Amino acid sequence: MKGLLLAVGIFSVIAMLVGWLFGPSAAIIAVATLALLLLWRHELQLARLKVWAEQPLGTPVPLATGSWSKAFMALHRRARQATAQREALQEMGERFRMVAEALPEGVLILDRGHQIEWMNPRAEVLLGLDRQRDVGMPVTHLVREPEFISFVERQLETGDSSVPLTVRPLRSPGHVLHIRGVPFSAGSTLLLVEDLTQLERLETVRRDFVANVSHEMRTPLTVVQGFLETARDSIGDTQQPMLPEEIMTFLDMALDHAHRMQRLIEDLLTLSTLETDAPPQEEVVDVNALLALVAEETQALSSGRHELVLENQGPATLLGSSRELHSAFSNLASNAIRYTQAGGRIALRWNRQNAGGAVFKVIDSGIGIESKHIPRLTERFYRIDRGRSRESGGTGLGLAIVKHVLERHQATLIIESKLGNGSSFAAVFPAQRVGS
Ligand code: ADP
Repeated sequence: MKGLLLAVGIFSVIAMLVGWLFGPSAAIIAVATLALLLLWRHELQLARLKVWAEQPLGTPVPLATGSWSKAFMALHRRARQATAQREALQEMGERFRMVAEALPEGVLILDRGHQIEWMNPRAEVLLGLDRQRDVGMPVTHLVREPEFISFVERQLETGDSSVPLTVRPLRSPGHVLHIRGVPFSAGSTLLLVEDLTQLERLETVRRDFVANVSHEMRTPLTVVQGFLETARDSIGDTQQPMLPEEIMTFLDMALDHAHRMQRLIEDLLTLSTLETDAPPQEEVVDVNALLALVAEETQALSSGRHELVLENQGPATLLGSSRELHSAFSNLASNAIRYTQAGGRIALRWNRQNAGGAVFKVIDSGIGIESKHIPRLTERFYRIDRGRSRESGGTGLGLAIVKHVLERHQATLIIESKLGNGSSFAAVFPAQRVGS
């Protein structure tokens, strides 16, 4: 407004001056020329504004003079605000994209025609898809599981997200996927895919474990109960009284089974402590003393039926829990006794390795193991010959305990054996656990 008043003032003064000097026609020409000049200047500013508006977002607003300068400055401020907002939105969008990409669940966005609009890398892995190739394709053409196809169709037709789908894909046997659909923006659906394979495996292991423990407990308990009932009934039975020796035999057998149950409970408690305990104590264990103790116990278990040798290569120490290491070493040694015929040879060997580690090895000349069983021996209750394991006082948990103890000490168990030709069980300790 001020600019306009100024221009009118200047125009009037110039018109009066030119009119007074050269007459009224010259005044009119002068005013028209000035008006044209003013118009041309405005046109110029407008043209610059137009050129600026066609530039990419973020281009600085051009400089201007006069009243245009204020308008351009205001525009400049607005443009800066808009750029900042746009960048903030872009950053937020990018963060959301990164979160969706990093999710442990597979995420797919489908449009109303089942076509994939977007998916994260986990969805590619779980459903066997490829982002580069498959975005834009109908998911029902790519994942050919009949249950999955009807689930997606139902999902898009009804929008009902209450019933998830659990599917075992034919292309990856043993895997279990849990899929949920969530209605997204108009007509689109979000598919969330979760891998339940590990969870299902754990559940199966837990179920089997409970069934195994119950079974292991029930058998000796039934036997003890049976023997005790027979012995009690025979006391009042005047017709067929039991001889004291017979009662003794029954009681001995009952005691045997009670001991077995006790061993089982002890092993179960050891295992559960190993699983739930904090890392093992870091004691400096004297390997010489430990080996001497294990050898003495093994000798007692053998009662002279085997030839036992201790091959100890010099003094050394192990860093860890002496209780756990003792339990692992004596389990390996007692297995050697229990699975080696009378007259067989058993060696307990301690060897230092060049790289600074060390190996405790139990070598026997016993019954040996068929190679197909070797990978499963450390599973709880896995036994090659159930009868033989029981007869020799086994619980089926010894090697599971060994494996846990060794894992807790960053050691590994290496089993080598041939059926009928003896076995060797080696516990290999890393250098950081071994001292001199
Ligand atoms: P168990 O109490 O039955 O001995 P373990 O977990 O100690 O349980 O061992 C699992 C199985 O591994 C045993 O039942 C046995 O079949 C086999 N096994 C373990 N040690 C030996 C060995 N030294 N020689 C032959 N078989 C063995």
